[in-house]
Amino acid sequence: MLELKHIKKYYHVGDSVTKALDDVSIAFRKQEFVAILGPSGSGKTTMLNGIGGLDIYDSGDLIINGKSTKDFTEADWDAYRNNSVGFIFQSYNIIGHLSILDNVEMGMTLSGVGNEEKHQKAKEALERVGLGPHINKRPNQLSGGQLQRVAIARAIANDPEILLCDEPTGALDTETSEEIMQLIKELSAERLVIMVTHNPTLAKEYADRIINFADGKILNDSNPYVEDASQDNFELKKTKMTFWTALKLSFTNLKTKKARTALTAFASSIGIISIAIVLALSSGFQKQIDKTQSNTLAQFPVTISQVASKQTKPTETVKNSNSKKVTAKLSQQEKMTHTNKLNQNYLNYIKNLDPELSKDITYNYSTGMNMLSKVDGKVKTAQFSNTNSSNAASGMSAAMASSTGIGGSVYPSSDHDGINFLKKHYKVIAGTTPKSENDVILIVDRDNSTNINALKNLGLDVKDGQKLDFNKLVGQEFKIVANNDYYKKVSDNLYAPNSDMTQLYNNADNKTVKIAGIMKVKSKSSENILASGIAYSDKLTQDIIKTNENSDIVKAQKASDSNVLTGANVDSATKQTLVSYLGGSKTPSSIMIYPSTFKNKDKVLKYLDKYNKNKKSADKVVYTDLAGQVSDLTGGLMDAITYVLVAFAGISLVTSMIMIAIITYTSVLERTKEIGILKALGARKKDITRVFDAETTILGVSSGLLGVIIAWLATFPINLILQNMTDLKNVAQLNPVHAMILIIISTVLTVIGGHIPARMAAKKDAATALRSE
Ligand code: ADP
Ligand code: MG
Repeated sequence: MLELKHIKKYYHVGDSVTKALDDVSIAFRKQEFVAILGPSGSGKTTMLNGIGGLDIYDSGDLIINGKSTKDFTEADWDAYRNNSVGFIFQSYNIIGHLSILDNVEMGMTLSGVGNEEKHQKAKEALERVGLGPHINKRPNQLSGGQLQRVAIARAIANDPEILLCDEPTGALDTETSEEIMQLIKELSAERLVIMVTHNPTLAKEYADRIINFADGKILNDSNPYVEDASQDNFELKKTKMTFWTALKLSFTNLKTKKARTALTAFASSIGIISIAIVLALSSGFQKQIDKTQSNTLAQFPVTISQVASKQTKPTETVKNSNSKKVTAKLSQQEKMTHTNKLNQNYLNYIKNLDPELSKDITYNYSTGMNMLSKVDGKVKTAQFSNTNSSNAASGMSAAMASSTGIGGSVYPSSDHDGINFLKKHYKVIAGTTPKSENDVILIVDRDNSTNINALKNLGLDVKDGQKLDFNKLVGQEFKIVANNDYYKKVSDNLYAPNSDMTQLYNNADNKTVKIAGIMKVKSKSSENILASGIAYSDKLTQDIIKTNENSDIVKAQKASDSNVLTGANVDSATKQTLVSYLGGSKTPSSIMIYPSTFKNKDKVLKYLDKYNKNKKSADKVVYTDLAGQVSDLTGGLMDAITYVLVAFAGISLVTSMIMIAIITYTSVLERTKEIGILKALGARKKDITRVFDAETTILGVSSGLLGVIIAWLATFPINLILQNMTDLKNVAQLNPVHAMILIIISTVLTVIGGHIPARMAAKKDAATALRSE
């Protein structure tokens, strides 16, 4: 059945050599009870481990059922231990965190026996050893004798041909020892039992054959046996632990040290927490920036003005010159300004801009309006401006002083619907949105205030802080009088406003404009898109130009070199301004392009740049892009901050990975004995690695989950604090995709960190592992 041929096993420690087995040759019968006696250190355990395949011999051969084991692979030894051998140890070696049933089933679990069969066999084994009534107890609720019975049940559950017992009664009292010996004796009726013992009395009482051992050699054998060269009928069923078994082993093990597991998971989740928070914050900030950017876009359209400032070059250094000539030189200021030629060519070019790229294009004209209002029955001149000038006629000089002071804010009116622009940033608090270009609106701030001059210019008599009813303003009408009605020719080349204002007001040809409603800024970021005061559609200006461009006064001003209202001489530039003011010029004073998205803004700018290609610098048209300057800065800054923060968070992730590795390593050291037991039961190296990989998987998943949950919970107080500090709502938002990725990263990193110690565990020599305490 079993034959040892010249087996040698030497242990080398430093320079000394221990000959634990020194040329041992012996054969065993298929069924007998063999007792091995001998002093401590004589090599008994070594021989038993050698027979059981726990410790592989150095030389010689072990023959099982006629088959040499010289060419056994590791898998063969694993299968041999699992199928053919049952071990019983002095120290029971029951896995404490598993139930009794699980312990007994472990060998079968490793070889993949089905659940039902496994339970059946385990129960039978436990009943056979007399533990039927204790089947539901936990290992720590049993006495030593009972534990040894569990170990015996485990050893015989798979019905092995060989039962190897290493001082099975060494830790038991005499009475219990007798019972255990009786049990082993019974078991030896069906198989080969080899028992190492210190106790010659017990050996003599129960064993069929006694072998005396000393210094790694057999001294004598009471019943020697010579094996015939019997036929090779040896067959091994390979073992294989499923990942579920590994998970279960790790899970029950982790359960026995709940507090430590929880702490470990928490500590290693810190890296995940910090990365999750950084990501939540940065994506939140990115959202805020995107929102601000599109608001900035509305606030700062790409502007093309008649007079633009060029990008400044650093001041040139002045070199000393000895030439006898004077150089005429433009001042720095003059060099910086550039006059854009907004001619028909350019206007057509702008008109051909892809409509997809811009929400709206507004043309501003420095056109005055001959406007009258009737307040408390009295007709007065009025204007849609919030600059401090009281009278429309003298407003002309104000207009010349500042080209934006002509009217109130102009909002874009594309042909179909310019109202969307208003609705996006403002809400109606009285009246309605404009229904046509003859409807204007009053823009108020979030505190319902508006510019006092805008109200005064409408003809209202108001003081600072005075409150006005909505209905006093909504519905208020204004008459816009055509130039030919408004101005009278006084002399050959001089015109003056008609003095009978009531008659002018009632003129049937007047254009009637009314305040359709009051609109309020929706959010802080929409402030300043339109100035507070009256806002009107740019279509209104175009209508007025249409009416006035061929009026008498315009024709006269175009023909004259003096101001037709004052008689003063004017240069050509001032003359042009006057003609524009009187509505005689179709050339806008400025063009504002509102790009539809930030990306499209770049395309708009590219389009504008294309116009300047191959043009003389005087013919180039320069634009201003304030939004670009703002967004470039914030975008780049945000990226930089995110990188730095992620780098810091990454460090803590690496730290937690190292920690997991250390903890797995400690766990490996702690569970050395368990590794030995599993190996004795036939677990492969792979299976051991799996047990620890499973443990780190559990740790990784739970620390990832924990980290994500804590980070998610943390976003609430963080958002509260940020809202108090910055007025921004819900900045920190944990993206569920990020959360999933982080859990996966945590698991993968933890498994990697724990895998190396797990491999170390698997490589542990089974015999050495079992010797450890
Ligand atoms: P016994 O079981 O008869 O008491 P052992 O088989 O345990 O004896 O040990 C036989 C000899 O081998 C002893 O001298 C012991 O110190 C030595 N030995 C056993 N295992 C090792 C090992 N892993 N490394 C070094 N020496 C060992
Ligand atoms: Mg021993």
